[in-house]
Amino acid sequence: MEFAMGNGTHQAKIELIARNIRNFPDFPVKGIQFKDVCPVLKEPSALSAVVDLFEEHTRQTFPQVDIIAGIEARGFFFGPLLAQRLGVGFVPIRKKGKLPGPTASLSYTIEYGEDVVEIQEDAVTAGQKVILIDDLLATGGTMQASCKLLEKYEAEVLGCFVIIKLKDLKGEEKLHNYKVFSLLQY
Ligand code: AMP
Repeated sequence: MEFAMGNGTHQAKIELIARNIRNFPDFPVKGIQFKDVCPVLKEPSALSAVVDLFEEHTRQTFPQVDIIAGIEARGFFFGPLLAQRLGVGFVPIRKKGKLPGPTASLSYTIEYGEDVVEIQEDAVTAGQKVILIDDLLATGGTMQASCKLLEKYEAEVLGCFVIIKLKDLKGEEKLHNYKVFSLLQY
């Protein structure tokens, strides 16, 4: 695992988060190294560290942000906390069939199967500047589909934030049009 360069406090926060991520081999299917972020949620200081680092990066790089969009399900753990810190709203991007009212959807491939992302038609408006949040970037399919969904409504994706990036799966290549920010790279 690699740590990004930063000051002492920054580094201490990164290490605190890393200590609270568990690896489960062969979950949910053989061959997948599943990164479990649940211990981060259980440890208040680690959860604060995630939100601190996301907030810091947003304020430095994307102060113009209008709204945070979180990807089901683990983007919901962190997205609303960041939105509250920044004083902006949060909107969910969900799996198919979960959201009421008019929606738009997109199907895509993931590291271990196929999936569909969906958003409510009135979640974002044209010109709104959005930061997308998920726990992990693997092949990048989920994040890419979510970006396209937001762009369908002419929202602008400022950045894609994740706690963990799995480097070998090259998700960032799929997201070459977007700015990806990750706290930990494995
Ligand atoms: P992908 O679309 O391949 O980038 O997959 C990212 C989505 O699948 C995220 O929402 C992750 O929560 C989940 N995911 C994919 N691979 C893993 C993994 N190895 N460990 C934990 N979650 C994963």
